[in-house]
Amino acid sequence: MLAIFAIAFVSIFAFWRYRAMRRENEAHMQILCLTHPVTRDELSVRLAGLLRANEYLEVGSMLVRVPLKAGICYLGEPPKDIRAAINDADIAAHGEETVQFFSGSLQQETVLTTRMESLQRQALERQEFQVWYQPKYDLRTRRCIGAEALVRWQSAELGFLPPGKFIALFESNGFISDLDFYNLEQVMMFQREAAENGLPVVPISVNQSRVHMREQGYLARMQGLIDRYTTQGIELELTETAFDFADHALREHSVAVVAALHAMGFAIDMDDFGSGYSDLSLLNQLPLDVMKIDRSLLLASEGSERMCIVLQQMIDLGHALGMKVICEGIETEAQENLLRRCGCEYGQGYLYGKPMPRAEFETFLRQHA
Ligand code: C2E
Ligand code: MG
Ligand code: MG
Repeated sequence: MLAIFAIAFVSIFAFWRYRAMRRENEAHMQILCLTHPVTRDELSVRLAGLLRANEYLEVGSMLVRVPLKAGICYLGEPPKDIRAAINDADIAAHGEETVQFFSGSLQQETVLTTRMESLQRQALERQEFQVWYQPKYDLRTRRCIGAEALVRWQSAELGFLPPGKFIALFESNGFISDLDFYNLEQVMMFQREAAENGLPVVPISVNQSRVHMREQGYLARMQGLIDRYTTQGIELELTETAFDFADHALREHSVAVVAALHAMGFAIDMDDFGSGYSDLSLLNQLPLDVMKIDRSLLLASEGSERMCIVLQQMIDLGHALGMKVICEGIETEAQENLLRRCGCEYGQGYLYGKPMPRAEFETFLRQHA
């Protein structure tokens, strides 16, 4: 008896292009394979080998690497409708793994993704996106010295969703542009009202997606906000991925965009520093005001003397370059003490305060700023 699998291949290279641009650009082929009965592991290993063997294309005199992915759907007994199987294999091919089997949970994810996309626009109009605030603090005095704005989606249809569920999707379909703009405006309004109501005004940082670096009209839109509000007390958080372009011109463009934002009066934070390649040339090219050290570095330092030295040197480097240094993700007093010993001045993490809705943060500010 033959086991039948529908296998969809998709190029990661093209998929990333799809994520950055539009679905039509996805290079895609579908192959139906009939195999002798094999175990899942055996099929995974064989397919991974097949993908590796075919991932180079000859373009003129050049060899271009086009990594491929495969999704597999088992037809079963009695066999599933072949069109449905190919569709499910296609869903699996867009999963995380190089070779992925279709599963019910993958299907649920796809259904959720489709649902989120259909609801995103009306969710913005209905004000279902909420800005929550996580306090930042001085590690010596334990006073609140600022906050990070973090978005949440309180959906009437889908329930409460943290950003991990929707940011990547909105980056791939472009909706993040409007969402980030909305969040930033909410924070600017918060700062204005805090000043009017006699609340302590502390700097608040707002995450900016890497998508903006290539967005037409981004700077003009930011200028429009400045004309209505002020950049006073607003920091923009960017991660290294905003500059992670193989193309030199694109990278230069991102650097120029950040320089322009800084010239407009926004303070610039390098978010998740130490989590990726930590391209040190960015410290020279960008007008950075704040270094936000990634939680992974803090965790690694707990168990290793050498990592502790790396952490300490990174904090010193930030200070030597005139930056404020803040460490993210502090959960224990031991971590807080370690950071104090390393000379870190500021922190953010569950130990001091979790992200909280606006009203709760106002009370927090009154008590802790
Ligand atoms: P991020 O900017 O690095 O934000 C820090 C994340 O760490 C937040 O997750 C925060 O809740 C979490 N965190 C804070 N303290 C601790 C701690 O002590 N322990 C642990 N384990 N985690 C801690 P959150 O709110 O789920 O946000 C995840 C990511 O989503 C953010 O990472 C940011 O990259 C993105 N994001 C959030 N809001 C926005 C937004 O408005 N726009 C854009 N473009 N991205 C956003
Ligand atoms: Mg951040
Ligand atoms: Mg971060």
